[in-house]
Amino acid sequence: MRRAVHDHDSAEGLVPLDEARAAVLSKITPLPPIELPLTDAYGCVTAADITATVDLPEFASSAMDGFAVRAADVVDASPGEPAELKVVGRAMIGQRPDATVGMGEAVKIATGAPIPSGADAVVPIENVDDDGELVRVLEAVPEARHVRPQGQDVRVGDVLVPAGKRIGAPEVGLLANAGVPHPLVHPRPRVIVFSTGDELIPPTETPAFGQVRDANAYTLFGALREAGAMPVMAGIIRDDPEDLKEAVLSYEIQADAFVSSGGVSVGERDVVKAAFFRHGDVSFSKVAMQPGMPQGFGFLEGRPFFGLPGNPVSVFVSFEMFVRPAILKMMGRPNLGRPEVSATLTEEISGPKGKTVFVRVTAARGPDGWRATPTGGRGSNLISTIARANGLAVLPPGIDSLGVGERASVLLFRSNED
Ligand code: AMP
Ligand code: MG
Repeated sequence: MRRAVHDHDSAEGLVPLDEARAAVLSKITPLPPIELPLTDAYGCVTAADITATVDLPEFASSAMDGFAVRAADVVDASPGEPAELKVVGRAMIGQRPDATVGMGEAVKIATGAPIPSGADAVVPIENVDDDGELVRVLEAVPEARHVRPQGQDVRVGDVLVPAGKRIGAPEVGLLANAGVPHPLVHPRPRVIVFSTGDELIPPTETPAFGQVRDANAYTLFGALREAGAMPVMAGIIRDDPEDLKEAVLSYEIQADAFVSSGGVSVGERDVVKAAFFRHGDVSFSKVAMQPGMPQGFGFLEGRPFFGLPGNPVSVFVSFEMFVRPAILKMMGRPNLGRPEVSATLTEEISGPKGKTVFVRVTAARGPDGWRATPTGGRGSNLISTIARANGLAVLPPGIDSLGVGERASVLLFRSNED
């Protein structure tokens, strides 16, 4: 490993990645919480502790089909000397029992039915002789036997879901059960996605020579969905600053954030720069990262705007570095990073010394730990190399290569099941 931590020669004038990212994230705040119906709140983060206003279960019920009795009445019961009780009613699921249980009495009860008042235990049907009017109980049951008590699971005042927790499948069911149909959560941001470029066409069209099918809007759509946001496909914008300004403004009311790709480098035709350089407070910087060096960030009409570079791999990596953590922060998620593992390299990786370099890899866990293998060429236009990867190996600033057998930190951007 060649290391020269203080050598930033090749990064002159560039903003270190960590600094650029911290600057972006410091300006992002969680979206104001709103009460959403459960199916919309699913996947969102709670904005406050949600406490129970009811016990769960809400009433004591029977765990067996049988008879609700007073344990004291059957304390000496046995097959030889059954306790004889008068059947005074029935308890069925979903209904208030039609009788109470007095001394020497029993109520026929179904599994899940509320325990009638007066009763404190259930004798299963197998342990009685029942002739309709009278029931002979053949075994003694202690108090509370086969009774599911009220409040066994949750008590009034207990925290059902703490603040800052993502509502997953078990939580959304719990809230439904506890009568919280509109929890207070940070909503999913609506993110307007633009692609810029005179050469771009939708994937449904056949390109004329030199035209390129828009990939980035789809990559961003997927990445935004996976992050939990609601992408809005705003289409392809020609390299005309007025068109872009107009398009952005037309989406303003429904936007929580904007993401564009292309048009942010130094070329004459760089439309995003031309449109927004003096508008709002969007600024453009060269970040010391590869791929993804030119980045625009700022606010348009008070909403965060991310101007990502145009090459498909740069889009993906820039999204991972800037947009994804920002989206997670807007959603109130406490953890903004990806899982990171240390992996042994099966091939050398290299890149410019002054930058944080991300190498697309497949990382797999074997008997000797994680191993990472680059998926192909380094060009940031090579879109299939990111599709085949599940991780980004990190070559930090100051290191220009890591050899076979050396370890690199790898950010995993897919879950194990994918
Ligand atoms: P730009 O930064 O606009 O100069 O774009 C850099 C490169 O990325 C060019 O080769 C573009 O054709 C390509 N590119 C830009 N936007 C897209 C897109 N939405 N889909 C696929 N390639 C794109
Ligand atoms: Mg372009």
